[in-house]
Amino acid sequence: MIIVLDKKYSEKSLERIKQVVESSGYNLNITEGNDKIALMVIGSPVNIDKSLFMAIDGVETVIPVSGKTGLTGKTDYDHKSIVTLKNNVMIGRGFTMIAGPCSVETEKQMDEVSYFLNTQGVKILRGGAFKPRTSPYSFQGLEEAGLKLLKKYAEKYNMAIITEAVDEVSLDLVSDYADIIQIGARNMYNYSLLKKSSKKPNPILLKRGMSASTDDLLSSAEYLLAGGNNNVILCERGIRGATGIKDTYVLDFNGVDELQTKTHLPVIIDPSHAAKYKNRVFRLAKAAAAYGSDGMMIELHPDPQSALSDGAQSLNFDMFEKLMKSIAILNGLNDGH
Ligand code: PEP
Ligand code: MN
Repeated sequence: MIIVLDKKYSEKSLERIKQVVESSGYNLNITEGNDKIALMVIGSPVNIDKSLFMAIDGVETVIPVSGKTGLTGKTDYDHKSIVTLKNNVMIGRGFTMIAGPCSVETEKQMDEVSYFLNTQGVKILRGGAFKPRTSPYSFQGLEEAGLKLLKKYAEKYNMAIITEAVDEVSLDLVSDYADIIQIGARNMYNYSLLKKSSKKPNPILLKRGMSASTDDLLSSAEYLLAGGNNNVILCERGIRGATGIKDTYVLDFNGVDELQTKTHLPVIIDPSHAAKYKNRVFRLAKAAAAYGSDGMMIELHPDPQSALSDGAQSLNFDMFEKLMKSIAILNGLNDGH
């Protein structure tokens, strides 16, 4: 366990921490960083209640570092992974925006969307070619023809591609085209797909299942790392809660914080699939920017009314442009807490 203290701590706080640690039979090892102090509790103090420390003035966070956290767990308080794509696009350093339509549909749609995103400085293009739809009667995606369109326009506008693999067959195809393979919420528990994905050279974005705990998500990510793929990004996309609104999810900000505390992997937020309607996506995205994370993934469409999937939650270009301006301001205001 590592207790991270703000450098402006008082001696009284440090004394109180020592008291709690020593009365539980452990010792402290103190390391001074530039603006933070890390207090390493020696031993395996899984039995000390984190909230005993969180109540003390100056304590910023408590990181559970022990043999049990596996490959996804932090080994130090500032342990943080960065996923680097072609053209030096990075996820995990600063804020990264990923955007694009829910589904790849036509040449015109992909040309318009990628041209527009390029003008907005977005460097990672999303678009589904294999769609995991709730209804078997809904549009299921263009499959390889969709991957070809994605590649054509990502290359034209110098963007990296993220697209979803829904099973082991699509995984091989997606791996040939994508810079990042997306494993969706419905497949977070698909351990055979995770094992197979762990052997691919592509980075992987793993979305949290809609009924999964953050620890379940970390266990699934552990499969990817254990299989040898260290380039993993986690994504909070909303979980089922008591909103009482059909097909709407609760974006779990506490879960984002929990993940940021426990793992060195980058964590991004998808407000589109949580909020369901564009006005709510817009507001939730601003809240997410204020909250702080490694990035966001947003759905947009040149003509949301004609979208073959998720049109109601797709932003139009005007809204997206407005959102990018708000996010830039909110990111500037973010003080790291
Ligand atoms: C998506 O990103 O297109 C998608 C289907 O998301 P999720 O897996 O979170 O539902
Ligand atoms: Mn979608």
